[in-house]
Amino acid sequence: MLPKRALMGPGPSDVYPEVLAAMARPTIGHLDPAFVDFMDELNELLRYAFQTQNTVTLPISAPGSAGMECAFVNLLEPGDKVVIASNGVFGGRMLENASRCGAIPVVVEFEWGTPIDPGKVEEVLKANPDAVALAFVHSETSTGVRSDAQTLCNLAHDYGCLNIVDAVTSLGGIKLLVDDWGVDAIYSGTQKCLSAPPGLSPVSFNDAAMEKLKARKTPPQSWFLDLNLLTSYWGPGAKRAYHHTAPINSLYALHEALLILKKEGLQNAWDRHSRNHQLLREGLEAMGLEFYVEEAYRLPQLNAVKVPDGVDEAAVRSFLLDEYNLEIGAGLGPLAGKIWRIGLMGASSTERHIELCLDGLKAALAKG
Ligand SMILES: *Cc1c(COP(=O)(O)O)cnc(C)c1O
Repeated sequence: MLPKRALMGPGPSDVYPEVLAAMARPTIGHLDPAFVDFMDELNELLRYAFQTQNTVTLPISAPGSAGMECAFVNLLEPGDKVVIASNGVFGGRMLENASRCGAIPVVVEFEWGTPIDPGKVEEVLKANPDAVALAFVHSETSTGVRSDAQTLCNLAHDYGCLNIVDAVTSLGGIKLLVDDWGVDAIYSGTQKCLSAPPGLSPVSFNDAAMEKLKARKTPPQSWFLDLNLLTSYWGPGAKRAYHHTAPINSLYALHEALLILKKEGLQNAWDRHSRNHQLLREGLEAMGLEFYVEEAYRLPQLNAVKVPDGVDEAAVRSFLLDEYNLEIGAGLGPLAGKIWRIGLMGASSTERHIELCLDGLKAALAKG
């Protein structure tokens, strides 16, 4: 028997019971006409979540990392120069992806815990007029920092670049307007603010991004993530050619999670994440705990909290897991041992979760 936990780390978040129930629906064929109708509905729900009219809006059959790889392998050809603005772990992974595509990455580094500075990015874009794309992470889950995606997307266009946006932790948690902000390529995940199980990556590509793909001289090096092939299954259009067997029951789960989001309303979901962040903040500050990130850039769904001097941070996490069935996250890379990452994502963004977390932390710290 596996334990039932309250998931308040950097993802996965708690999965809604209705979503788990949806997964138990009968599996049908991936080309069954009923399933094809279901796919159309799912894509429409994704368009709502992303706030886009992009026809190419679909879930990749693998987790967020696959969405990242999908954006890079389709949009970058060997020799293409890409500017990567990096302020944490996931910016570092963008560099890995770009290098493996044979692209020429130009990295603009920012201190962990700080947002991407558009002024510095502009200098680099100016100095690299041959760059074809600007890639960055909207919500850096490793540090709990939000960057100004709208400004960065516009900046990319000012310098003739496409933009590639990591919204794995953003979608459903904070304001994200794909069409209004001029996002060209974006990917997300299911296990963060959407509160579906891990294993799928919603992506969306606009016409400009698809033009770049159509103009390639060489096919994308990944057969599995080739958008030309994926759209032959996912549409638009009546063809629906077999590419790979879609993870039917996982897609039921995502569909249900998106229905829950739509029922709540995007703005209401964003407001709930913001409200609960303030509630957690008040409780943490009353205990004398401090945030790692400056207030203006904090992500409501991922709270980076400084570990007080002399406290064994791993022992606290073990205590919470053992005594409270509560998972919070550790720091990564240079922040290992220095911060906890407390997630308030999707179904885990409730007052009940916050109470549990504050009670648990109080008990853990009192224990010494
Ligand atoms: C979680 C995360 C990813 C990777 O998603 P997986 O589902 O773990 O593959 C990528 N980018 C960001 C910002 C994330 O938070």
